[in-house]
Amino acid sequence: MIKVENVKKAFGHTTVLDGVDLTIAPGEVVSILGSSGSGKSTLIRCINGLEKLNSGRIMVDEFDVGKPRELAEARKRSGTVFQLFNLYPHMTVLGNITLAPIEVLKKPRAEAEATARALLKSVGLGSRADAYPAQLSGGQRQRVGICRALAMQPRYLLLDEVTSALDPEMTAEVLAILAKLAQDGTTMLFVTHEVEFARQISDRIVFLDNGRLLVDLPTKEFFAAEGGMARPRVAQFLSKMR
Ligand code: ADP
Ligand code: MG
Repeated sequence: MIKVENVKKAFGHTTVLDGVDLTIAPGEVVSILGSSGSGKSTLIRCINGLEKLNSGRIMVDEFDVGKPRELAEARKRSGTVFQLFNLYPHMTVLGNITLAPIEVLKKPRAEAEATARALLKSVGLGSRADAYPAQLSGGQRQRVGICRALAMQPRYLLLDEVTSALDPEMTAEVLAILAKLAQDGTTMLFVTHEVEFARQISDRIVFLDNGRLLVDLPTKEFFAAEGGMARPRVAQFLSKMR
């Protein structure tokens, strides 16, 4: 579904992604681990077409993210949730979730609202449709962000540290939603510092180090071998996380 091929990305003279290869099949949940500055967010932004590649290629289904004409199709397939709650402050929760389905997918308002209400109910926010973002906790806002992504009926979700600005209780709320989505077979590429959670929900773990994808292993093998061949680096990382 997502195919990252030998991707290189630099900002000025700084190489941030140095020949990354990664394939994600439908239904897979893949977690990206790595220290701060290792290139995780840049990789997500490249997959979403927010950054131009220096070389290499990223395909989403049959669409090449690097080709302007194909980018829109590729983007339609993805739902992205970032660390910061980028909801529109002047719109209600319902307005935030229904905006793109109405404007981009051209859904009738009634249908978009019915879908949004069902999504809100599924994340325990059925009664907050008319609230404004400022009236919600961080965890609630992030759950609205997930609803907003899902309302576009994406083929997969890109999640970049969606819990790192939340306290432990709110983190647990959001992770519970993501665990449910994973169980339902949602394809997810998940950047996180929540190592134990990644272990519970992921089919595979990839480890980025200094722009290189050092490890790509099934979750069990990753934790059993602490990164296999890359063990010293991964063990060092994991010891800091625990
Ligand atoms: P991570 O998400 O793993 O913490 P990032 O992908 O955000 O890492 O950043 C990787 C490196 O790229 C960092 O050194 C960061 O400073 C640099 N970087 C990211 N975005 C930009 C940008 N727009 N301009 C210049 N440097 C950037
Ligand atoms: Mg980041």
